[in-house]
Amino acid sequence: MVSLVEPVEVAPRPFAQMEPVIGGKRHALLIRAADLFRQRLAGRTVWNISSTATSGGVAEMLRVLVGYAEDLDIPVQWRVITGDPGFFVITKRLHNQIHGDAAGGPLSGADAGHYARTLAASAAELLDQIRPGDLVLLHDPQTAGLTAPLAAAGARVAWRSHIGVGWENDATRAGWGFLRPHLASADGYVFSRREYVPRWMPGEKVSVIPPSIDPFAPKNQELDDDTVLAILARIGVLDGVAPGGRTSFVRREGGLGTVTRPAAITGEGRPGPADPLVIQVSRWDRLKDMPGVMRGFAEYVAPGGSGYLLLVGPAAAGVTDDPEGAAVFGDCVLQWRDLLTAVRARVLLVTLPLDDIDENAAMVNALQRHATVICQKSLAEGFGLTVAEGMWKGRPVVGSAIGGIIDQIADGTGILLPDPRDLAAFGAAVRQLLDDPDRASRMGRAAQAHIRKHYVGDVHLLRYARLFSALISA
Ligand code: UDP
Repeated sequence: MVSLVEPVEVAPRPFAQMEPVIGGKRHALLIRAADLFRQRLAGRTVWNISSTATSGGVAEMLRVLVGYAEDLDIPVQWRVITGDPGFFVITKRLHNQIHGDAAGGPLSGADAGHYARTLAASAAELLDQIRPGDLVLLHDPQTAGLTAPLAAAGARVAWRSHIGVGWENDATRAGWGFLRPHLASADGYVFSRREYVPRWMPGEKVSVIPPSIDPFAPKNQELDDDTVLAILARIGVLDGVAPGGRTSFVRREGGLGTVTRPAAITGEGRPGPADPLVIQVSRWDRLKDMPGVMRGFAEYVAPGGSGYLLLVGPAAAGVTDDPEGAAVFGDCVLQWRDLLTAVRARVLLVTLPLDDIDENAAMVNALQRHATVICQKSLAEGFGLTVAEGMWKGRPVVGSAIGGIIDQIADGTGILLPDPRDLAAFGAAVRQLLDDPDRASRMGRAAQAHIRKHYVGDVHLLRYARLFSALISA
């Protein structure tokens, strides 16, 4: 029989490398917390169960956290469950519903049966390994149906939703209605934001644990100025820099990578190395509002002074399976063609190749590091990790006051736009930062300190340790 459960091997990540980033005190605090937690575990194992080991932010974050936990000698395991295509059609629909989107239509009784049977079979396999008393963290709707069988066998089960919205509609009610019976026997629930917790969930069992960034990932690792310029010249977005400089970065699993590929660029002009850059990096998704950023820049930023706008997203080849992505990109190109000639020369649409994920991340890193102002003018946002990424690089971020962006931008660490559709306000915020480099760099420094304090992995690990400790003593 084909196995429905696969182990994920994660190389230990040396936690010592965090010390220069978080300081000796925080480093020592985590080591002590890990010692205590290990004692509390008293031989129990911590299991993470998700539905993918490779794609998406959840898998990326798990790889980092599990790697650190291993280095800290915490007995931790990661398993990935799978299912037939029908199972993933159901879970994709659930994912959409939790986001308030009814795409794909309602789920039937037969779907519910299929979902429950698939997960019961996975649970049976998992129970060959998971022992009574072990701690299990289930990730996202794909795994919710494991809760009851694992809890019935004596495991302490927490379920984490990495998604959510802060409001209700028929779709969210349908999605939660489907999941609720499966989740009834969980000992704990985890959300990235308090606003995402459905009202029926028992508050005393809910923890809020926001995501974190990894300072050593290709996306965030330190790159010196020469390397940043060389990478930007190599991908083709900068003029006046020889493209032959050093473009290397450290890969996720160690070892050096090199940025060799060009980006595909729609644009007539190229900024020079000293020109101010306004950048938004995101998927070509309507809710990220790339067209709104372009219009705001053209109408309210460009007329007031110098500066270029770069709208950056994944390559067209990477979005062929995402018809909306291709359509949004197409709309941006049409809108770009309609810009006044002088403005058009200052707007670039940049698509980054996705065939090497680490190389793609190094390109994003260099772009964010070189930006004068970073925008995330989304109309809706789950968490919006691009905001933390930009702030980590000491950049001032102009972001919409929605979803997780509100949590990330604190007073003085960036600018929140109360109404993301107010392009004049957006343009004014960006223009002010371009015109006041002192304020921009003060804000950038405060931003970096804020992310260091709240959104780096040790904080995330401590929150998990607290959750699991509570599950043990419950
Ligand atoms: N991203 C990337 N390459 C791109 C566009 C986006 O690597 O061409 C990354 C971006 O740096 C961030 C992630 O995709 O790490 C997007 O996460 P976020 O939470 O901002 O939004 P989501 O796409 O999950 O809605």
